[in-house]
Order: sequence, then structure tokens, then C-alpha cells
Amino acid sequence: MVSCTLCHGRGSVIKRETCPTCNGNRTIKRQCTNCGGRAWLETFPLETKCPYCDALGMMTVDCDTCNGTGGVPVEETCPDCQGRGYRDE
Ligand SMILES: [Zn+2]
Ligand SMILES: [Zn+2]
Ligand SMILES: [Zn+2]
Repeated sequence: MVSCTLCHGRGSVIKRETCPTCNGNRTIKRQCTNCGGRAWLETFPLETKCPYCDALGMMTVDCDTCNGTGGVPVEETCPDCQGRGYRDE
């Protein structure tokens, strides 16, 4: 029996999966913190477009689940050795 080369005897492998929060887009839309999603600021005498979100009410920020990489590491049972860490050979 030999140590599994795929998982190096650990029995599990780290796979990168598409981030479920941003679906691999690396960024997410979040309610603008400057205008609270209203898109306009109440400034006297006229309202002004929120400069943070360009009057969209939402801003695009780096996804914090994957830190803007679009993928998250997932540990799963090694498919080569079924989690035993070695193979019969
Ligand atoms: Zn993400
Ligand atoms: Zn805004
Ligand atoms: Zn293995």
C-alpha cells in the first residue's frame, strides 16, 4: 500500500469552488452606505446625486466571502483513495 499522491496521505483535498455569494463575479452589489440606498442626498436647496454610487443607490464592492477572488476553498474527501490516505497497489 502506498500513500495517496493526490491528497498526500491526508485523505482530503482542497478544491476551489465558485463563490456562492457572488457566483464567481468577484464583486457584489451592496446598498450604498453614503446615501442609504436613496441615491440622492438631501442638500439644501437642491438634492444632489450621491457621488458614491452615481445615483444608483447601490455600490459594487469586493465580495467579502471570497475576498474578491471569485472562489472559495472547499475541503472534500479525496476521490483517489476515498479518504483513506493510501491506495492498495
Ligand atoms: Zn465571492
Ligand atoms: Zn449613494
Ligand atoms: Zn487520497
